[in-house]
Formats: sequence, structure tokens, C-alpha cells
Amino acid sequence: MSEFDTDILIVGGGLVGAALALALKDSPYSVLLLEGSPLEQTFAPESWDSRIYAINGASRRWLEDIGAWQGMDRQRLLAVQAMQIFCDEGAALRFEALEAGLPQLATILESRELQRALWQGLEGAANVSLLTAVQAVQLTVEPDVARLELTDGRSLSARLVIGADGAQSWVRRQLGIEPQTHDYRQFGVVANFAVERAHRGCAFQWFREDGVLAWLPLPGDRISMVWSCPESLKDELLALDGELLAARVAEAGGGKLGRLQTITPPAAFPLRLNHVPHIVTPRVALVGDAAHTVHPLAGQGVNLGFGDAAELAGILLAEEVCRCGDLSVLRRYERARREPVYLMQGLCHGLQQLFNNKNPFLKAARNFGLGTANQSEWLKRQLIRQAENY
Ligand SMILES: Cc1cc2nc3c(=O)[nH]c(=O)nc-3n(C[C@H](O)[C@H](O)[C@H](O)COP(=O)(O)OP(=O)(O)OC[C@H]3O[C@@H](n4cnc5c(N)ncnc54)[C@H](O)[C@@H]3O)c2cc1C
Repeated sequence: MSEFDTDILIVGGGLVGAALALALKDSPYSVLLLEGSPLEQTFAPESWDSRIYAINGASRRWLEDIGAWQGMDRQRLLAVQAMQIFCDEGAALRFEALEAGLPQLATILESRELQRALWQGLEGAANVSLLTAVQAVQLTVEPDVARLELTDGRSLSARLVIGADGAQSWVRRQLGIEPQTHDYRQFGVVANFAVERAHRGCAFQWFREDGVLAWLPLPGDRISMVWSCPESLKDELLALDGELLAARVAEAGGGKLGRLQTITPPAAFPLRLNHVPHIVTPRVALVGDAAHTVHPLAGQGVNLGFGDAAELAGILLAEEVCRCGDLSVLRRYERARREPVYLMQGLCHGLQQLFNNKNPFLKAARNFGLGTANQSEWLKRQLIRQAENY
């Protein structure tokens, strides 16, 4: 009989926490996944989630390896074949998957469909238990054990606690780790629309004076929008009824896909860069948005989180169970993630700053840069391959 209630306790069953639990399924570890919200698994099939993600090749391959990809409904996935980017003074850049010898640039999926496949993959797992609609209220770390008190009065002990509890991470706060935060003073406004003209698997992005507007193609004649914009525009968009919102978004996209019709009402998320100085301490590790956040303009947030989960799972699966909470083991994870996370945060932040600047010289430079990049097939191939494998 183990002296611990579980070897690994994952706090947060969002996409990253649930995927990490699935990666540890059928391993020698006992795993407990704690999710504060109740499970919501039934949705009207004709409705579309407004949280839509562009999943890159590296994440897709890992989700296949852990068995989550196979559990998703193919009719709700879409391969992005091309992407067009427009700058504020007319310069444009076009990427094609075929040019880079790839079957697709990314796969578009709904957050809730992947979440459903992850929960389903965990059903019946002999070594993974789920605890939902219960929150953790206290974390105590001793040299050999981490203890968690729950809202229902239970107390749980584990060799390792993993904080997968999102950007406002409760686990991170318990450890007293303060992220360095840059508030973009922008919100990501998301909504889905039916379109008049076929998108042919093409994603669109406009760097505009009032923010970054992205249209991601959904299965059928539908798109998902993310408009990263200042608070005033967010308030204006959220106050519009469906018809006026669709007209406003169609006009902002220059009528590229004809008339739009709102099919999922808008929601808004504040946009912040969180740089977390330490993502491990003895017996605790952070993954996903608990460990970092990025501006959504490159659509890489959850991909970075899957990179964390894949790395940490790989390290844990190669370790002896009794060593899983040792700082020396967890530091290997921290070291491995430092570079990819810094690079992606730097890239997204740099692009956001470059395009969110009204200086006329910068304006000319970014339009020139984008136009020049469009002429170089080699450069475009390199950019696609980088994004695919991040
Ligand atoms: C507008 C917008 C658009 C985006 N678009 C993209 C995109 O196209 N591609 C992409 O890769 N990324 C995108 N992202 C980023 C992406 O949404 C996040 O990176 C991703 O959701 C992080 O997943 P997570 O599992 O780490 O955290 P979360 O999704 O926040 O999940 C955390 C979970 O922990 C639970 N929890 C919290 N506290 C507790 C507690 N104390 N006890 C128990 N459970 C708890 C919560 O209920 C939740 O289920 C976007 C972000 C925004 C804001």
C-alpha cells in the first residue's frame, strides 16, 4: 500500500491538464485529475464552440500518439490549406501548404470537441481517477510529499502536484510565484459566422489600425473570428446584435467571403503576456497557461501547452515513480521548455508591438517587409515549417 493517495495530482482538467493525464494512462503512475468545473459533454450537434484552435503538426502528432485525435469527430475538423495576411497599407503575404510540401498548414478544431475526446480517452483508465466540480483550497509542500485540501473537506497527498489550472493559476499563487505580466490592453473577441462564399480551407488575417482580425475556416461554409482589439472596440462589438455584428465583421474583412451571418454569439477574453520566472519547485510543476501566456495572433497558446505536457510526460515516463517530484527531475522539464517558450513569447510580442505602432516609418517598414517576404518562396517555406513543428 502506497503512503500517498496518488503519485501525481494534476490540478486543472482543461485541454493541457487532461492531455497530460491521458499521456500518463497505462503507466506505472497513479494519477488523479482534479477539475474545478463540472464535466459538460453533451452539445447540440448543430452548434459550434466559439473557442476554436489552430493545432500545429507537432501537437497533432502528439495527440495522435496519446490516442486523443482518433476520438474526435472528423466532420468537425478542418485542414487549413492556405493563409493570407494583409498589412495596414495593402501589403499581402500568402502561404500555401502545398508549396512547403505539407498536407496542411494546421488543423482547426473546437476546444470542446477535443476536450470531449480527452475525457473519453480517460474513461476506464485503471491508473487515472477523475475528480470534478471540486476545488483545491490549500497546498502544502513538505520535503517528501505535497498535500492538497479540497473544498469538500478532503485532504490528498501526492509525490508531485502539476498546476494545469490556466492563466490565473491557483497553484502558482500558492507557491508565491509572481508572473511578469504585460497587459496588451486588448481583448480577443471571438464569434462564429456562416459565410456566403466558400473559404476553400483558407485562413485570413488583417493587421489593422484597430487590432488584428483573424478568420479561421470551419467545416462547411463557416468561419471563426478572433479580433484582438482595444476595449472600446470590444464593447462596441459585444453590444451589436447578430446582424449588425456580421455586417461589421464582413466589412472589416473587405467582403472577402461575401455576406456573413452570426451563428455563435461573441465572447471576449483579456489578452496578457505572462512570463513565469520558475515553472518548477520541489514537488510542483506548472504546464500550459499556468506556465506562460502569449498573444493569440499566432494561434500558438495551446500548442505551447501541449509541448509542455509532451515534454513533462516523456521525462516522467522515463523516471522511477519514487523520483517524480524530485527537483532534479523537474528541472530537466523546466530547462527543456525554456527556449521554445521564450522564442514563441518573443515572436508574438514582437509582432504585436510592430503592428500596434502608428509610427509612419514602422508602418512603411512592416508593409515593405511583408511584401518582400511574399516574394521569397524559400523564406515562406521556412516559416511554415517552423510553425508546423513548434
Ligand atoms: C481569444 C483567444 C484565442 C486563442 N486562440 C488560440 C489558437 O488559435 N490556438 C492556440 O494554440 N491557442 C489559442 N489561445 C490560447 C489557449 O486558449 C490557451 O493557451 C489554452 O486554453 C490553455 O489551456 P490550459 O489547459 O493550460 O488552461 P485552461 O484552458 O485555462 O484550463 C484550466 C482548467 O483548470 C481548471 N481550474 C482552474 N483553477 C482550478 C482549481 N483551483 N482547481 C481545479 N481546477 C481548476 C479550470 O476550470 C479549467 O478547466 C487563444 C486564447 C485566447 C484568449
